[in-house]
Amino acid sequence: MTTSPDPQSAPKLDIRIIPVTPLQQNTSLIWSRETMEGVFVDPGGETDRLMAAAEQFGVKIVGVWLTHGHLDHAGAAEAVRERTGCPVIGPHRDDQWLLDEIEAQGAKYGIADGKNVTPDRYLEDGDTLELAGETFHVAHCPGHTPGHVVIYHQAGQLAFVGDVLFRGSVGRTDFPRGNHQQLIDSITQKLWPLGPHMRFVPGHGPMSTFGQERQDNPFVADQVLGTT
Ligand SMILES: [Zn+2]
Ligand SMILES: [Zn+2]
Repeated sequence: MTTSPDPQSAPKLDIRIIPVTPLQQNTSLIWSRETMEGVFVDPGGETDRLMAAAEQFGVKIVGVWLTHGHLDHAGAAEAVRERTGCPVIGPHRDDQWLLDEIEAQGAKYGIADGKNVTPDRYLEDGDTLELAGETFHVAHCPGHTPGHVVIYHQAGQLAFVGDVLFRGSVGRTDFPRGNHQQLIDSITQKLWPLGPHMRFVPGHGPMSTFGQERQDNPFVADQVLGTT
């Protein structure tokens, strides 16, 4: 007996999750085992630690991808760009007002190393990103913030959802310009269609799958929302 290889797996890509800042935000380091080029998704802080991780795995950083403008996700983007020369890509332009507030917010939350940042490129719904020949797709998912995007790798069945969805919870919408109904609509209309097997890395806490959350997430399970 042999186990058939999982057609969904993407053996060319590797990933490590590195929680940063007092808010324990999940920064992802994704890289290609073939080219050893990699990106940080949501480098929120602790630039030295992030760069040390890249060095440890022998990864050359070629990009920073941001899901949204909150400081615990975007605080180290400018520092990584300065050190590596790589572009900062995302989020949607509707979050620029938050990227302009990182230093002011950092003073409030006691996260001193964050810097304001203007991306090299904003992301739109339906955009694609590339890493070493692997394609990632972009879904605009407002609600937690107006310019929040989710970045997903269909072939590897892996999504980076920032603060849209968590294991057993959803993003806060009590911040300025948050909108709870919009958040729920983003989850059900943009994420659920990607399929129940899609795994996701949330901005905080453990990984899960969309199927698991549709089953028992107290905010967005099918039974809770009255969908099927
Ligand atoms: Zn956030
Ligand atoms: Zn967060």
